[in-house]
Amino acid sequence: MADGGSSEREEDSPRGRLIVVSNRIPKGNDVPAGGLVHAIDDALRRTGGLWIGAGEPTDEAGSELTKIGDGAYERHTFAITHEEHDRYYLGYSNAVLWPLFHHRSDLLRIYERDFEAYVQVNRRVARAIARIAEPDDLIWIQDYHFLMVAHELRALGVANRVGLFLHIPFPTASEVMALPQVAMLPAWVAAHDVFGVQTRRDVGSVREVLREDPKCQILNDGTWVREGRVFSVLAFPIGIDAESFARDAQNASLPRLTLQGNAPLLLGVDRLDYSKGLVDRFEAFGQYLEHRDPDSPKPTFLQIAPTSRGDVDAYRDIREKLDQTAGAINGRHSELDWTPLRYVNRHVDRTVIAGLYRRADVCLVTPLADGMNLVAKEFVAAQDHEDPGVLVLSHFAGAAEQFQQALMVNPFDHHAFALAIDRALRMPLEERRERHAALRENVFTETIGWWTDAFLARLARAPRALDQIMRSI
Ligand code: ADP
Repeated sequence: MADGGSSEREEDSPRGRLIVVSNRIPKGNDVPAGGLVHAIDDALRRTGGLWIGAGEPTDEAGSELTKIGDGAYERHTFAITHEEHDRYYLGYSNAVLWPLFHHRSDLLRIYERDFEAYVQVNRRVARAIARIAEPDDLIWIQDYHFLMVAHELRALGVANRVGLFLHIPFPTASEVMALPQVAMLPAWVAAHDVFGVQTRRDVGSVREVLREDPKCQILNDGTWVREGRVFSVLAFPIGIDAESFARDAQNASLPRLTLQGNAPLLLGVDRLDYSKGLVDRFEAFGQYLEHRDPDSPKPTFLQIAPTSRGDVDAYRDIREKLDQTAGAINGRHSELDWTPLRYVNRHVDRTVIAGLYRRADVCLVTPLADGMNLVAKEFVAAQDHEDPGVLVLSHFAGAAEQFQQALMVNPFDHHAFALAIDRALRMPLEERRERHAALRENVFTETIGWWTDAFLARLARAPRALDQIMRSI
C-alpha cells in the first residue's frame, strides 16, 4: 500500500465530515460514472460532508461559496473571474505547473501575474474552508491547482488534518529550480499532514526537493518535520472501478470498424496532450509499418485523442504536429483498401471506448510522463481474460510500477518500440493470458475504492506532534 513513510499507528482521531476540494466539480445532480469525480462522490456518500470546486467564470468574484444541487452531501462552488480562469487555471496551473511537473521545462510560460492569480484563488478557497471547517473535519485537497491551500489554511490558524493528493508526477530537484517559487515549495508541502503522490518514484522526487531545504528533517520512520510540523509523503497509486468498467465493456455495442478481414486492432485513447507521447507513438507505428512482414494481416491503429486545453499554445502546437505525422504515415503506407492509422480528434462516448478496449488486440499506452494513466487500467479491466490482448506500456507511466507484466517500452526509442508492436501482435495465447492475469489481479484489487479508503485512513490517523511520533517509533 502506501510507501515511503511512517509505520502504522494506533492513535486515530475522532472523524468528522470530509471536505473535498477539486478544481472540477459536477454542476448537475448526475455524477458521471467512473473516474475521480465518481470516487469523490462515493467517499462523500459514505462519510457525509461537502465538496468544493470552481464555479463557472464570471465578471466579479465574491468570497462566498455558492451551494449547488442537492443530495447526500453538500456541493459548493467558489467564485472565479474570467481573468483568474485565464491566469490561475490556463496560466500558472496549466502553462507552469503542468509542464514543469511533466518534465517539460522548455514549455514553461512564466508570468508573475499568473502566479498572483494562483495565490488569490488558493487564498480564497482556504478562507472559505476556514469559515466552514469544524475541528474534526478531514480536509482532502485534489491536485496541482491547489498546492498552496494548506499553507494558507495554517496561516489562518486551521489545525485540522489536511491531505493533498497529487495526480501528476513530481519534478526532480534540478527541474524544480525552473519554478520562480521554488523556495516556497517545501513550506507548501509541509503544511499538509499527508502529501500523497502516485508512485514510489514520485515519493523519491519529493524527498529530493525537501532535502534541499535546511528547515526540513526526515526521521528514522520516514516522517518529515519542518518548523515543528510533522508530515508524511506517501504513495497511493490510484485505481479504477474495475467491476463496473468490465461490465460496461462486456455490454457495449461496438461501432462498425470496417477492418480488413480479421485484421488486428491497435488502440490508443488519450487526451491530446504533449505528455502522452502521441507523436513518438505514431512514428514508432510508422517504423513498424516500414518493416512489417507483407504477408501478415494488415493491422489498423485507431488513436482517439480529443483536443484538450486548446487555448494553451503548447496544445495547439502538438495538434499540428500530430496532424502532419498522421498524414505522412498514411500517405506513405495506405493502400486502396487499407488506411493503417486512423486518428480521431473528437470526444468519444465512454461506453464506446469501453467496447473498443474489449475489441482491441493491442493497447498502446506510451506517455513520456504520466501521473498514473487510467487508460492502461481500463484496458486491462475491459479485456476478455480467456483471450486477452496485449498492453504496451511506457516506463514513464505511473502505472509501470504496478504493471511490470505489461510489454514495457521506452517511447523515445522508436526502433525498440516498433519491435514491441510486432511482438505484441504475434504474442502466443499462453503468454498473453499469463501477463493479463497478473495485471488483472492488480486492477481488481487496488481499485478506486481501495485508493480512497487507503488515503483517508492514513489521513485520519496522521500524527499531530513530534512526541506522538517518538512514542510510536
Ligand atoms: P489524464 O487524466 O491525463 O487525462 P488518464 O489516462 O489517467 O489521463 O485518464 C483519462 C481518462 O479519460 C480515462 O478514464 C479515459 O477513459 C478518459 N478518456 C481519455 N481519452 C478519452 C477520449 N478520447 N474520449 C473519452 N474519454 C477519454
